[in-house]
Amino acid sequence: MDGLPYKILIVEDDPTVLEILKDCFNDGHRTFTASSLKEAREQLKKSRPDFMILDRGLPDGDGLELCAEIRKDPKYQSLPVLMLTGKAETGDKVLGLKLGADDYLAEPFELAELKARVEALLRRTDELNLRRSIKKSLWRY
Ligand code: CA
Repeated sequence: MDGLPYKILIVEDDPTVLEILKDCFNDGHRTFTASSLKEAREQLKKSRPDFMILDRGLPDGDGLELCAEIRKDPKYQSLPVLMLTGKAETGDKVLGLKLGADDYLAEPFELAELKARVEALLRRTDELNLRRSIKKSLWRY
C-alpha cells in the first residue's frame, strides 16, 4: 500500500476473521485489535487510530452504538469508520451511515474490496487534512 503506515483499529469478535483482517492490513500498516465494545473503548482511550474497522455484532452490544458515541467526541468526529456486518439489509446500511459510519460492508465480503474501500477513505481523509493545514497556514500570514 502507498502512503504512511496508518494506525488501524480492528474491532471484531470472530478470531478467524480478526486474524485475516490483521494479516491484510499489517502489510504496510500498524494494526490494533479489540473484540468487544469495552475493549474498543479502552483502545480508543489509549491512542487515536487513523482508521477504524468496526464489526456490528459484538458480544457486549452493537458496533453502531460505539460509532454513534464517538461522533459526539470532537477528537473522533473525523475518524474514518468502516462498519462490517452480517446483516445485508439496506435499512441497516442506511442506519449505519446515518449514525456516522463512512462506509458499510456486508458479509461475506471480498478482502480486495475491503482493502480498496479502506484505501479510498484514507486517501480522502489525507486530502481533507492537507486542505485544512493549508488553510491554517494561510491564516497565519
Ligand atoms: Ca461479530
